[in-house]
Amino acid sequence: MKTIFLDRDGVISQFTPNDYVKTWNEFRFLPGALRGLGMLFSHGYRIVVISNQAGVSKGIFSMENLNDITLKMEREAEKAGTVFAAVYYCIHAPEENCECRKPRPGLLQRAKRELGGIIFGETFFVGDTDIDIEAGKAAGTKTILVLSGKTRTAEETLGWKARPDFVASGLEEAAEIIIRQDSSEKDEGKSK
Ligand SMILES: [Mg+2]
Ligand SMILES: [Zn+2]
Repeated sequence: MKTIFLDRDGVISQFTPNDYVKTWNEFRFLPGALRGLGMLFSHGYRIVVISNQAGVSKGIFSMENLNDITLKMEREAEKAGTVFAAVYYCIHAPEENCECRKPRPGLLQRAKRELGGIIFGETFFVGDTDIDIEAGKAAGTKTILVLSGKTRTAEETLGWKARPDFVASGLEEAAEIIIRQDSSEKDEGKSK
């Protein structure tokens, strides 16, 4: 079973410029996000969320708030037919210099250790910022930038340290790309 890594804010839920999603009341699924999740899940992908939530360390919201958001996000996704395999957060502030804050690949490596069966070169990381793409590249995943969050145009990626392999309007299109890529790889395998 292949694993897909997803950032949360700007991919699954609305990105809030200069702010954090502090409570469930502030969490909004992006249009098409639940459909995109459902497409991946129904195609047998294991879905893992990898998200920086430094607001915890900064005291802007509590771990309890974050756990509540996670629980309710999982519940709503489940109602729509998707079960997350795991949700991993880095709750540290940048100055704590931890190993898990993206662009570092610590949380991806943790997922690999804890979930097993992950070959990074076969996986995708879907994110809305340069640091998501960097984290994916650092771990060795394929990367998809979605334009449903912080980054609004593909042109913005021109100066990035790591460039995405694919660009999609949102999670639904990213899911289509992943499914198409993997089925064409399978076809290539057959014709050999
Ligand atoms: Mg994001
Ligand atoms: Zn961290």
